[in-house]
Amino acid sequence: LLGTYGSELRMSVYVVGGFVRDLLLNIPNYDVDIVVEGTEEKAGIEFAKYVGRELNATVVPYEKFLTASIVFKDGYKIDIATARTEYYERPGELPQVDISTIKKDLYRRDFTINAMAIKLNPQEFGTLYDFFNCRKDLENGIIRVLHNLSFVEDPTRMIRGIRFEQRYNFRMEERTLELLKKNLEENYLERVSGARIRQEIEKILEEKEPIKAFRRMAELGVLKHVFPKTYYTSLMDEKLTRLFKYLPRFKERFQNINDFYAVSTILLEYYDRDTLEEMRKKYGYPKRFIESLKMTEGLILPLKAMIEERLHFSEIYKVLGKSTPYVYIHLSAYLDDASVDYLLRYIDALNTTKLDHVTGKYLVDTYGLKQGPVLNRILEELYSMKLDDPNLDERATVEKIVQ
Ligand code: ATP
Repeated sequence: LLGTYGSELRMSVYVVGGFVRDLLLNIPNYDVDIVVEGTEEKAGIEFAKYVGRELNATVVPYEKFLTASIVFKDGYKIDIATARTEYYERPGELPQVDISTIKKDLYRRDFTINAMAIKLNPQEFGTLYDFFNCRKDLENGIIRVLHNLSFVEDPTRMIRGIRFEQRYNFRMEERTLELLKKNLEENYLERVSGARIRQEIEKILEEKEPIKAFRRMAELGVLKHVFPKTYYTSLMDEKLTRLFKYLPRFKERFQNINDFYAVSTILLEYYDRDTLEEMRKKYGYPKRFIESLKMTEGLILPLKAMIEERLHFSEIYKVLGKSTPYVYIHLSAYLDDASVDYLLRYIDALNTTKLDHVTGKYLVDTYGLKQGPVLNRILEELYSMKLDDPNLDERATVEKIVQ
């Protein structure tokens, strides 16, 4: 259908990039990227508007980038771009956009496996456009840049390359690997904004086995250039492995867990204040998050011991209290399965326990206590006892405490 609309507008329409790659690999991919070739630089936007009218879908144009999204009623989305070459004024910056043909459009892409197009116009429907032997690389499982300046133009491709390599169990072609290492040493990654690096790391965190990409980033030295004080030891590997394993169980219990912050609890361990502050500015961590990292620093090992000894919840509560989810997640990276179960039971107890029969007002009315620290301590004490024993007789117990 898109091809037919293209022909009506005298434009060539192609599906490109990841969709073509996954189609050839027989892997489902619902992200459809379309490129149109037209005589106008706004051909893509014009095309999107036409399709939007014909199919009764919403069109969101991005005039500056000459692209548009078509959003259908069911939420399904197609991205449309105009065939273009991009030139980078300075490495690491967002590209400037100019018009050109599909070949040049494909040439500016990150890797050969992502640089194929399939034509959709009816006369040529299904024709594969493969200018750079991309299909062969895909068949041989090779990640290869299209030209020598690829990582200079966009250093985040180093991280992307690792992500694709690990996702498909491919390997980086030798020359590509050399370029990566060389550009890495020349500190090209340091020129990229923290936001863009974070974005690429977040994409890794969406992968099925993110640990593989972290291992590879460490092996190639990429990790050092994004987290300069992180030493990827086998211990850190074990901690991250456990963190990824347990993370879903914390997500069941807490809303809005950010995976990037979650791994950062491990990646930023042992950072000094100044470097943490640098990282906060670079990656946009909330101040609260950094502070809680600093506060938990010395507590993790004692807490690990307490949980492993299965101390009563009331004892753990005295040290851990009601913490932020990232403290629990951080701690879980140190624990085995059974201990994580225990930690989760503690969290569930905190979430379900409340005092039903004793309140501040009750203490004031019954015992003539005044609002203040003493009264609060009594309530806390009672609460922590109820964590251990949900059937606690609150009034009888408070009677004893007050005496
Ligand atoms: P995924 O399956 O992870 O979504 P994808 O290939 O679809 O992979 P996107 O980030 O959606 O990844 O990018 C779509 C296409 O745009 C890629 O296939 C690639 O051709 C091109 N592309 C994306 N990012 C870059 C980049 N930094 N440099 C060059 N080309 C890129």
